[in-house]
Amino acid sequence: MTNAITEPSRTTPVLMDTDVLVVGSGPSGLTAAIASARTGAKTVLLERYGCFGGVLTQVGVESFAWYRHEGTEDCEGIGREYERRAKALGFTRPEPQSISEVIDTEGFKFVADRMIVEAGVTPLLHSQVVDVIMEGNALKGVIIEGKSGRKAILAKRIVDCTGDADVAYKAGAPYTKRDKSELMGVTVMFTCAGIDVARFNDFVRNELKPTYADWGKNWDVITDGKEDDMFSPYMEEIFTRAHEEGIIPGDAQAIAGTWSSFTAEGEAMQLNMVYAFGFDCTDVLDITRGGN
Ligand SMILES: Cc1cc2nc3c(=O)[nH]c(=O)nc-3n(C[C@H](O)[C@H](O)[C@H](O)COP(=O)(O)OP(=O)(O)OC[C@H]3O[C@@H](n4cnc5c(N)ncnc54)[C@H](O)[C@@H]3O)c2cc1C
Repeated sequence: MTNAITEPSRTTPVLMDTDVLVVGSGPSGLTAAIASARTGAKTVLLERYGCFGGVLTQVGVESFAWYRHEGTEDCEGIGREYERRAKALGFTRPEPQSISEVIDTEGFKFVADRMIVEAGVTPLLHSQVVDVIMEGNALKGVIIEGKSGRKAILAKRIVDCTGDADVAYKAGAPYTKRDKSELMGVTVMFTCAGIDVARFNDFVRNELKPTYADWGKNWDVITDGKEDDMFSPYMEEIFTRAHEEGIIPGDAQAIAGTWSSFTAEGEAMQLNMVYAFGFDCTDVLDITRGGN
């Protein structure tokens, strides 16, 4: 097999020219773009998938402020606005371990769209950054690919919010990356329907009584001890027991983690309980293998 080919040089049309280009629309990119546009800067928010919100909307991470407990000093800012806007539209539910609200991931797509439009951000979906445009050491733009083909976007400032530092990497910024065997585990977030919520809550709060001191198998948490007695939605021992009793077959090493909210219809959302190690999420073959 030939290992590499040389592509012919080509002319790439410029799709947009802007003051600020934010790449990636997760909580960081969305916030950067809204903040930028509110100052009056001409701002484009670019996202490879079909909705804004990143892990919040694409993965289902609904918990946003589980640090908020009685007596905590809270912060303000655009993150807080997301929660308030979502709540006003009925897109939140109480967060089980704190006094905050979880944000409904489907509802947040609407909230994000509205806030982008109101701030004056130019949205661009279905466009993946595949390369950068450099002049010497200066970053002048990016190359995107999507259904419209390959295009250039020029910008005075580019904010890399891809989560993987794609733009910085392609621009030649120094970086470090651990060996695959040492990379963080990947999670398959899932949702279950048909839960007897009252029974579950009774069991968890009156029998299981999980605390932060229980965290361990997949998430090695080091605290100074002050959180140890606080209620936490982490579960581990019960899965280990179920495995030992043959209720969970196979290798149950990876099963442990947190549950989140319940809908009125009895769906358990954001079950963050399955971990797998040995995947490099910048390798398409590994991501493919991880999904199987
Ligand atoms: C399973 C899981 C559970 C978590 N649970 C919690 C939790 O309960 N509470 C909490 O606060 N945090 C949680 N986190 C962490 C939280 O989700 C992240 O810290 C947060 O999403 C980081 O935001 P971000 O904007 O930097 O990146 P992301 O949300 O990852 O957004 C990056 C965006 O960039 C886009 N992108 C990437 N590459 C390109 C490219 N080349 N071109 C164009 N677009 C690109 C992606 O599609 C994505 O939309 C969890 C994370 C995971 C994975």
